[in-house]
Amino acid sequence: MASVTAAEGAAAALRSVMSRAQQAAARAGRAPGSVRVVAVSKTKPVSVIRGVYDAGHRCFCENYVQELLDKAPQLPEDIEWHFIGNLQSNKAKALLAGVPNLDMVESVDDEKIANRLDRVVADLGRKPLKVLVQVNTSGEESKFGVDPSGCVKLAKHVTLNCPNLVFSGLMTIGMLDYSSTPENFKIEMGSTNVRVGSTIFGAREYPKN
Ligand SMILES: *Cc1c(COP(=O)(O)O)cnc(C)c1O
Repeated sequence: MASVTAAEGAAAALRSVMSRAQQAAARAGRAPGSVRVVAVSKTKPVSVIRGVYDAGHRCFCENYVQELLDKAPQLPEDIEWHFIGNLQSNKAKALLAGVPNLDMVESVDDEKIANRLDRVVADLGRKPLKVLVQVNTSGEESKFGVDPSGCVKLAKHVTLNCPNLVFSGLMTIGMLDYSSTPENFKIEMGSTNVRVGSTIFGAREYPKN
């Protein structure tokens, strides 16, 4: 068997994921291109991310500020970076200043972080930043996110009080148990922003401490 580099393997997997997302959108009667696939590149080296970029993908995300600050300058500026991790207020400025092509923060879960992001965007004179309000729909304590009962209030806060943010929708993290209802993982339920990590990049290896 011919050897395939990690970058080539990831590029091939990306093509397959993109076509599956298109097919799911079509089955649900939705327009092609109505589902954005966000490639979750955390822990993966820049060379492999570059392979997926070269295959035509532009939207990637990371969950740690420092990792994104390290990687973004080594990769093309037309990447649309999304931040998906739990963002601490005191890291917001470093993140936005260090990643000019940060396109979206998907994990806004309280007013404090919304206010901080709004302020930092203004201070940096940056264009408005897209945000998603992250909702903890599964009720699992291990997951971040605003409680569903507080989600409308937070979305209103962003829309009305944060002129430098663009409220762009909701993000939820489903439960791994597919038998649970509602089936919050199905693209056909109407998702427009789907995060895919290991299916594109292969399993993640975490260093042992
Ligand atoms: C890592 C991560 C993913 C991707 O998970 P995979 O199972 O590798 O697709 C999605 N969302 C969040 C918040 C993550 O941290």
